[in-house]
Amino acid sequence: MRVLLTGGAGYIGSHTAVELINAGHTPVIADNYSNSCPEVLNRIKEITGVEVEAHEIDMCDAEKVDKLFATGAFDAVIHFAGLKAVGESVSIPVQYYRNNIDSTLVLLDAMTKYGVANLIFSSSATVYGNPERLPLTEDCATGGCTNPYGWTKYMIEQIIRDAAKANPNLSAVLLRYFNPVGAHASGRIGEDPSGIPNNLMPFISQVAVGRRTHLSIFGNDYNTPDGTGVRDYIHVVDLARGHVASLPYCASHKGSVEINLGTGTGYSVKEMAEAFARVNDIPVPYQYAPRRPGDIDACYADPVKAKELLGWEAQLGLEEMCRDTWNWQKNNPNGYKGAN
Ligand code: NAD
Ligand code: UDP
Repeated sequence: MRVLLTGGAGYIGSHTAVELINAGHTPVIADNYSNSCPEVLNRIKEITGVEVEAHEIDMCDAEKVDKLFATGAFDAVIHFAGLKAVGESVSIPVQYYRNNIDSTLVLLDAMTKYGVANLIFSSSATVYGNPERLPLTEDCATGGCTNPYGWTKYMIEQIIRDAAKANPNLSAVLLRYFNPVGAHASGRIGEDPSGIPNNLMPFISQVAVGRRTHLSIFGNDYNTPDGTGVRDYIHVVDLARGHVASLPYCASHKGSVEINLGTGTGYSVKEMAEAFARVNDIPVPYQYAPRRPGDIDACYADPVKAKELLGWEAQLGLEEMCRDTWNWQKNNPNGYKGAN
């Protein structure tokens, strides 16, 4: 299939491009590089031998997106494009709503106009807010998001559900990611956050490489076995393969469906820091710090629906997550900047 990846130069999009190529598909990337850089395209070529078609486009720009679709002949779209920094979304909410929602509306218009029927959307476990119960099944209550970023995902899910109801040709898979971590085993593509990382694994790896003195563990009085927060970390290559597995399902169904992409296993912050140190034989000093506002005790998926509908389940474990994160970080201490 010829698959448009909006935001395809980003962390999850680049890994998905590689897995699509491995599975015989043709990804086409559309990205404005607001949180990525074109060097990613060279890295994808190094890994796969394939030069990916790429377009520098703001997905909110309706005219340019129309032009892209006019000649694109896409069989499906995976919509990764979006701003994703939780803290920043609290400071500049309007930009988050505008970018994430406008890009989706523009995309849906173009898909309708050009008869592109299959849409896979990057949603998030953040739509569950404070989990009603654990593990989270897709029918658990959503809403109660603790930041504007989370609300954009909640709202976009609803927009896509409504669009799929109104357009009997549209098929949408709303993938609710848990916590993506890790990198391609080659160490050539990975997560490249700008500034001080907000997320746990990039922070741990910057401590390990010496860019930060220690990890602050936000809270050790949560209602979890060791008191630190528990999350469902999923290797980004597994996550990318979940998108590949979603394509035939999407193409053979109509309407919209929500599917969790997680492993079903929760690890605590302390377990993650200790596993990283053990697997990579490198110290990860940490200190306890106050809770981070908006954080919840624990969050992990029930992954059964993905297995039933997509025939997909996560294959890679904690060891690979820690090993591949470190392999990427140590080979690219400054991310894609100063690329070698
Ligand atoms: P990322 O920032 O690495 O990738 C997003 C890409 O979208 C970037 O390359 C950015 O330049 C591009 N982009 C942003 N706005 C755009 C626009 N208007 N037009 C064109 N391109 C635009 O993020 P990621 O981690 O790869 O996340 C991909 C998607 O998955 C996002 O929608 C994110 O919200 C969602 N998601 C991510 C996580 C996570 O922890 N990484 C968890 C749940 C959901
Ligand atoms: N966390 C932490 N220190 C950090 C970053 C994160 O203790 O520097 C904790 C955070 O409180 C949460 C877990 O690590 O319990 C995962 O946080 P992350 O931001 O990676 O993902 P979230 O689940 O919040 O989307």
